Amino acid sequence: MSTTNTILTGTPESLQAYQEVMTQSQQAVAAWLQQPDMYQGKSVAELRERIALHFTPEGLGNKQAIDRAVEYFLKDSLAVHHPQCVAHLHCPSLVISQAAEVFINATNQSMDSWDQSPSATIMEVKLVEWLRSQIGYPAGDAGVFTSGGTQSNMMGLMLARDAFFARRGHSIQQDGLPNNLRNYKVFCSEHAHFSVQKNMALMGHGYQSVVQIKTDEYSRIDLNDLLEKLATTKSQGEEVMAIVATAGTTDAGAIDNLTAITTLAHEQNIWVHVDAAWGGALLLSEKYRHWLAGLEQADSVTLDFHKQYFQTISCGAFLLKDPKHYELMRYQAAYLNSEFDEAQGVPNLVSKSLQTTRRFDALKLWMGLEALGQKQYAAIIDNGVSLAQDVAAYVESMTEVELVMKPQLASVLFRVRREGLDDQQTALFNQKIGDALLDSGRANVGVTEHNGVTCLKLTLLNPTVTLDDIKTLLALVLQTAEAL
Ligand SMILES: *Cc1c(COP(=O)(O)O)cnc(C)c1O
Repeated sequence: MSTTNTILTGTPESLQAYQEVMTQSQQAVAAWLQQPDMYQGKSVAELRERIALHFTPEGLGNKQAIDRAVEYFLKDSLAVHHPQCVAHLHCPSLVISQAAEVFINATNQSMDSWDQSPSATIMEVKLVEWLRSQIGYPAGDAGVFTSGGTQSNMMGLMLARDAFFARRGHSIQQDGLPNNLRNYKVFCSEHAHFSVQKNMALMGHGYQSVVQIKTDEYSRIDLNDLLEKLATTKSQGEEVMAIVATAGTTDAGAIDNLTAITTLAHEQNIWVHVDAAWGGALLLSEKYRHWLAGLEQADSVTLDFHKQYFQTISCGAFLLKDPKHYELMRYQAAYLNSEFDEAQGVPNLVSKSLQTTRRFDALKLWMGLEALGQKQYAAIIDNGVSLAQDVAAYVESMTEVELVMKPQLASVLFRVRREGLDDQQTALFNQKIGDALLDSGRANVGVTEHNGVTCLKLTLLNPTVTLDDIKTLLALVLQTAEAL
């Protein structure tokens, strides 16, 4: 293979190679999309045995490399578009998102400086402005696209902490962490995403800094427990750097009372970060937008578009209410965002992000919004929420299964009961059902624990799935249980 067709350029040889690889790949994807199985069902050991890198002195050439990827990757991939693939917050993607990826990949723009992504930088800034207006934030452009919820949560926690210490005259950016770290806490729901703990550990505070607030019958932060723990913390001479509220907990889809929490926190001058990685989808909803009331009061917000916005991975955003807090993480790199550039109003997004080199993921949401329009986007989001309510009603009508939690967003938690099994045995039984379904390659159902109860989880994001599909799936669950 010559260099003229290994690198993507405008030469006839390169263009021909590009067209060939794209055609071959698209045909393979089309064939894969039509495979009947959700998964071919190979075990960990089988895949480990089968898959090997074939790196040779001369190279295989594009065609053979693609053939091998089809054989070893594509055929044994999980069909996320399959109606029985409902384990996780893991969506099938929009067709238009594929076109956006073609542009993102072929142009390889990098969002860290304007001279590496001129039109892309302006589009991302405009999309951030638009997202702020959807949240109800003041006009502005404080925010950035991220790799997803984990990174956005990190930004919220970090800026909250740095703002907290800045108010006390201490710059974390300059001087690092203070000595008496154990006195400073972050509050979140006991059902908050694990990235709160993980991020606090990465930030040097350890898990000990995270205080989990008890939840009510709907898995939302219990406001009484929140008040009590705020008081206890104070009486022990400790302080709260931030409260993380969740709009859409990963399993139950619970949305904390954002108005109450932000009001209460702001009375005590505490930063509220809202993790709306999942529930943020309701920003576009027609029926359920009001469930996010109070979001505009949050100091910072996490949104994820590779969940119920149906974008390909990765695509997330972090929004910051007051732009002045971005000063806390500002770094001037002469080669990217020089003072000279900034004085001329050149928007270099590097100082808004934890990343330097960064993909133009914003294009996917941009094109998705334009292609679908408000009504169609609302419809595919609302579909999952309504379907979960219908599925829950159906589950309640079945004798062999028990609804564990009333659905709030698009998930249904339930468990299969069998005569004579105690709670511990029922837990193992449900775990085995989940495993057997994936082994068979026919369905991927989540297994999780909710308030100590091991249960199965259906995450009903896919707008092409119907109640009948889920009835078929539940019949398969029972059939699988029967065979155990
Ligand atoms: C998925 C999820 C996250 C993590 O987001 P990633 O994009 O996977 O990093 C954070 N919080 C909540 C509530 C989530 O559901």
